[in-house]
Amino acid sequence: MKVHDTNDPGYRRKSTINLAGFLARSSVNGPGIRSVVWVQGCPIHCEGCFNPQFLPFSLAQQVTPSVLADIICAEETIDGVTFSGGEPFAQADALGELGERLHERGYSIVTFTGFPSDLVITSSRATWQRLLAVTDLLIAGPYIPSLKCDTPLIGSSNQRIIPLTGIITVPAPHPTVSEHVAEFTIHNDGMLTATGFPDARFVKGLAHLCRGG
Ligand code: SF4
Repeated sequence: MKVHDTNDPGYRRKSTINLAGFLARSSVNGPGIRSVVWVQGCPIHCEGCFNPQFLPFSLAQQVTPSVLADIICAEETIDGVTFSGGEPFAQADALGELGERLHERGYSIVTFTGFPSDLVITSSRATWQRLLAVTDLLIAGPYIPSLKCDTPLIGSSNQRIIPLTGIITVPAPHPTVSEHVAEFTIHNDGMLTATGFPDARFVKGLAHLCRGG
């Protein structure tokens, strides 16, 4: 597979997370109610990527795993946390530490990656194995527009949903209804977060409305 910008530009300490976005509560990024951590930077560059603004390895918000774990744990009644991006395995060491801190407090972890599952699971990189060790549900593979599908939690049929610990089970697809739901959060400052699988034209129109256009 073609991989872009694999060299970490080195602007951050490996122990910090380069955070592109955070949502305290979401119901479309894995089973149950979950906090979502989006990291900045992805080397894969799928055609039709859902989050193109998260692709550059540019400086976003720097946060330590310890601080982010405390923020997440202050959120009551969530089932777990989802790591998305950008590419979580490009920041595997820091997310691994965050996952360890969250696991200690009883939260399950869902990790999305654009790398194929066999590449990740058989990797000898210690940092990747650290993140894998705290991942309860791995959702792996690049997005391929020609294989677009309606299966819950994936965008294209080449992607794999792999339970690694038995703590999270794979959601069964509904027999007749598309499971590609979207979720919109309007924050106190007027900012809009669209997540899940929203239609791009609808998001653009909604953002225009929120700006008062
Ligand atoms: S792996 Fe995910 S974030 Fe990276 S380019 Fe593909 S869809 Fe976008």
